[in-house]
Amino acid sequence: MSTMKVTFLGTTCMQPTKERNHSGIHVSFGSENLLFDCGEGIQRQMKIAGLKRSKITRIFISHWHGDHALGLAGLISTMAADQVGHTLDIYGPKGSRKKFNHFKKAFPSMNGLPHKLHEVSAGGVILEGKDFIVTAEPLSHSVDCVGFSLKEKDRLKIDMKKAKKAGLVQGPMLAEIQAGKNVRASGKLVKSKNVTSLVVGRKFAYVPDTRPCAGARSLAKNCDALIIESTFLFEDKKLAVKYDHMTAKESAELATKAGALQVYLTHPSIRYRDVSVLLKEAKKYHKKVKFAEDFMSFEV
Ligand SMILES: [Zn+2]
Ligand SMILES: [Zn+2]
Repeated sequence: MSTMKVTFLGTTCMQPTKERNHSGIHVSFGSENLLFDCGEGIQRQMKIAGLKRSKITRIFISHWHGDHALGLAGLISTMAADQVGHTLDIYGPKGSRKKFNHFKKAFPSMNGLPHKLHEVSAGGVILEGKDFIVTAEPLSHSVDCVGFSLKEKDRLKIDMKKAKKAGLVQGPMLAEIQAGKNVRASGKLVKSKNVTSLVVGRKFAYVPDTRPCAGARSLAKNCDALIIESTFLFEDKKLAVKYDHMTAKESAELATKAGALQVYLTHPSIRYRDVSVLLKEAKKYHKKVKFAEDFMSFEV
């Protein structure tokens, strides 16, 4: 089982601070190194975090607000200069191709890196790997915005005691049983469901800039780790509504209702000098909530 390691590279709202860079989350999983959002300064943040930019396989852009996408041109230009040997896949909401092409016109150096842009027009599965799926859902923000989830596929685990008893020996038979197929052993039919149990895959979700909405709820559903924006306090809900963001209360409530196990709040407004006020509010509505800091990392 591969580790799924998440590192925060940027956790602020619109204005960067000494402690908080613009948005960026790095997730390593098996042979994939994924970047969710790419705010300004992400290259340097990766350097500090000890993460290799040449290893990035895919970048997921939630929306084209500067604090989430301005670092893309710089990062891709440097990856091109590094002569990275693989194709970079970039995913973003409706309208991404046009925006991305503007970047390429302004910075032709980006073309030195083989890349493929995927526009996410509707919600659902946008990528299926051997052992994982990435889903995108539309969110409710002032511009087209999508959130993402990364889910390890569920798998069957063989109970070796039961398998041996049923006459199964090592080899292709076990592989078939693990694939959910029934096999014949010493003339007897062995059903996969009788000698295996289901291991539910881990789920990570990223819900960036949004008001509470169906897309956010669907991404957060039963996830092991949820990163969710929490820009304002509930007493400033008017501002949250005006700028299409969430309050700490709303984010934590949404997470609880969706069954998210561990919650990381991010994207605080700089009007709050200390994020502990946001965290304190959220803690009333979710038992396992932390406030994200730059370079904080965890395993899902
Ligand atoms: Zn933002
Ligand atoms: Zn935004």
